[in-house]
Amino acid sequence: MSPAVAIVGSGPAGFYITDALLRSLPGVRADIYERLPTPFGLVRGGVAPDHQGTKSVVRQFERTLAHPGVRFRGNVEVGRDVTHDELKQAYDIVVVCIGAPSDRKLGIAGEELPGVYGSGAFVGWYNGIPDFRDLEPLLDATTVVIGNGNVALDIVRILAKSPAELAASDLCQHARARLGASLLSDVYLIGRRGPAEASFTAPELRELGDLQRARIIVDANQLADEPPNRLSAEQRAGAAKNLDILRGFASRCDSSRPLRLHLLFNYAPAAVWGDDRVRGVSLQRTHNGRRVATAELMRIETDALITAIGYRSAPFGGLPFDSARAIVANDGGRVEAGVYACGWCRRGPQGVIPANRSDALAVARLIAADVTHSLHGRDKPGGMYIDRLLAQRRVETIDFSAWQRIDSAERSRAALGRPREKLTRIAELLAAARP
Ligand code: FAD
Ligand code: NAP
Repeated sequence: MSPAVAIVGSGPAGFYITDALLRSLPGVRADIYERLPTPFGLVRGGVAPDHQGTKSVVRQFERTLAHPGVRFRGNVEVGRDVTHDELKQAYDIVVVCIGAPSDRKLGIAGEELPGVYGSGAFVGWYNGIPDFRDLEPLLDATTVVIGNGNVALDIVRILAKSPAELAASDLCQHARARLGASLLSDVYLIGRRGPAEASFTAPELRELGDLQRARIIVDANQLADEPPNRLSAEQRAGAAKNLDILRGFASRCDSSRPLRLHLLFNYAPAAVWGDDRVRGVSLQRTHNGRRVATAELMRIETDALITAIGYRSAPFGGLPFDSARAIVANDGGRVEAGVYACGWCRRGPQGVIPANRSDALAVARLIAADVTHSLHGRDKPGGMYIDRLLAQRRVETIDFSAWQRIDSAERSRAALGRPREKLTRIAELLAAARP
């Protein structure tokens, strides 16, 4: 008997698990539910618009969407348009792949002030996620970015690039307009630990050195000759590369470039201050590359503070939630009978796109083993049951052909040299999806 599977979420985890199930369970029928009208999760809404090579993975995902056993159901939020319980009634298996959509919080005074943006919101704004379309960040004079991961590097790079450097990207039109008009003179990238313990990686760090209008300011005295012994061999190798690149930055003298990009290490945010909006941030010096704060304070005046300090998943459909790790509670991917989790909502907001493939392969093996024992005698109605509910509720669902119409509308409105001009409002996306 071929099982009917609902996948919730169309990011990398959703596609890799669909693909793995198509291979391991012959005849499987998989419906992929996605809250946005557009597929691909963070590949569309997170990966930097100037990293088009990374986004090319969607060609592989589109082959999965074209498979006769797969249906895309975009513009359907599970929990809003249809419930998790209804999916369980309809399908033999539900795989939750909802990612980690919320920004982690600093947990310090003042962080709720207008002008403080989480990376999910800020990146979502420049990448055209409809929820953040009207963020309208104020990017005058000085912007501070907290965090030392690759997301923080993406953000400072997009802030620092000139319009010409972004000409071949799919940075959204509203973000191009605001960034183009901004009067940024200083961007600060703040790490709470030392440069050897930053979690960004060498290729991404090296890219900062190619920025045409930014001069990188980093204190050479902070750049030790060797990574500390407390790191693992793998971490030491990564840290050695990063230190080498940073020493290269410190030795350069290119004062003609108008934008100062300050890389500050060993500073943790202590408080955000302001009135009707953020006006600045106080940073506390940390000790010896660790997170132990000292009494030494530094204040930076700014009207935009962007935190790029990681993400949290969200409780879903009444399933058990591990609030300490902010993930759907699971045992190797198994959540409860017939329900599984995969990707960032299963293991936390860490890892690049291919890491979700290995995750999906492992979860698919588990599902295949469980299905052999559990499907006999069950007769679930499958996706048609949910189709009827969605029709009764007048939910306008986006199938693969409708996504292809959106895709071609975005491509055809792009200026020469740009891959696409994204539609960024739900109404525009739905209009473009109609035949
Ligand atoms: P996601 O990609 O977040 O997908 C989750 C999907 O579920 C989303 O489409 C969401 O809309 C949907 N969803 C959520 N709730 C519901 C619901 N209730 N009903 C229906 N649908 C729902 N990795 C790289 O390899 N290279 C990069 O350059 C890179 N850049 C990144 C940049 C940023 C800013 C971030 C945050 C991550 C980046 N990554 C990159 C990491 C990569 O994006 C992740 O590993 C990957 O996207 C995680 O996949 P996922 O499917 O678990 O989650
Ligand atoms: P990350 O790599 O975990 O980095 C988070 C950063 O935030 C760390 O520097 C962390 O410092 C810091 N931080 C956390 N809490 C903080 C606090 N309260 N105060 C100050 N700093 C704090 O996560 P990410 O940058 O969000 O990236 C997520 C994943 O996506 C990563 O696996 C990343 O590699 C991947 N990604 C890849 C690419 C790419 O390949 N080009 C691009 C973007 C993202 P500590 O280390 O001290 O905790």
